[in-house]
Amino acid sequence: MRALVMREHGDLSVLALVDRPLPSLERPGDVRVSLKAAALNHLDLWTLRGLPGLTLDMPHVLGGDGAGVVEEVGEDVSTVAVGDRVLLNPGVSCHRCDYCRAGEHSLCVRYQLLGEHLPGTLCESIVVPEANVVPIPETPPGAAPVDWTEAAAFSLVTLTAWRMLVTRAGLRPGETVLIWGVGGGVAGAALQIVKLTGAVAIVTSSQDAKLAVAREMGADFTLNHAEVDVAREIRRITDRRGVDVVVDNVGEATWEASLRSLAKLGRLVTCGGTSGPHVVTDVRRLFWNQYRIMGSTMGNMAEFREIVALLGQGHLRPRVDSVTPLSRGIEAFRRLDSGDQMGKLVVSIRD
Ligand code: ZN
Repeated sequence: MRALVMREHGDLSVLALVDRPLPSLERPGDVRVSLKAAALNHLDLWTLRGLPGLTLDMPHVLGGDGAGVVEEVGEDVSTVAVGDRVLLNPGVSCHRCDYCRAGEHSLCVRYQLLGEHLPGTLCESIVVPEANVVPIPETPPGAAPVDWTEAAAFSLVTLTAWRMLVTRAGLRPGETVLIWGVGGGVAGAALQIVKLTGAVAIVTSSQDAKLAVAREMGADFTLNHAEVDVAREIRRITDRRGVDVVVDNVGEATWEASLRSLAKLGRLVTCGGTSGPHVVTDVRRLFWNQYRIMGSTMGNMAEFREIVALLGQGHLRPRVDSVTPLSRGIEAFRRLDSGDQMGKLVVSIRD
């Protein structure tokens, strides 16, 4: 089968389209999916460049998100059958450790992600545990069906944003949320979730064209962070109060402004640091304003089921920037690396 792999750690020049053996089922609970589409995430760039403590067998297939048709199932598999249209949950957990038994699968002590620790989705077929595939939901009569592109673009960023806002931050209707860098996948999903919750969304980008799209998506206020002091603008918009929640996956470049944007008792939720990991927190600001700083990553099985139901109901449909065929998948990586995208970068595997 064709696969987009990294030959070693490095920049985009180590990516290559190669021929790989078709993966076979290893356990009775495994499912093999013939992939129709995959989607890129910023995580693919981190994996490409090399993560501390992570050793991979090379060549390594990248890609965490995907959707396709079940082509083979192990004897213990009962929830999906050959021919089913499915989408993947990229987070593979052990289902045995204390965290898993408590239903907290993204805290699993053996947690692994497709494309990061395990072979990924930028290929024609993948074998995953049964728990990591769910049927693509039916949509209500009259609504457009969920297509391969949307199904592939959905899981990782929506699950991440859902847990950040709903589970961790406990977002309530009427609250105000600041979302940095609305062109990114998690930020775009976060915007949809904020509006679905009935909260107010303030989003930033350095590109006015992306801010215009964000307004179409329901953003209440948009700020060009290359041109304005975001924290000062937040004070103006909120009548000096500040926002209830900040969604920050930028890290070093935004952390201080995130804290300065919070209302008293405000919650800052982070799922990453694309600009760098070492942030500075003024502890006086933290205790005096009684802030909460929270980490979050991926989500558990219950959260995944919840977002897939919302996908079927049409409440959460991912915004797709572009679709690139697997044969030109390196171009999609180039666009991811440039930061020019507005929404998800999807790679079509088969036509
Ligand atoms: Zn576990």
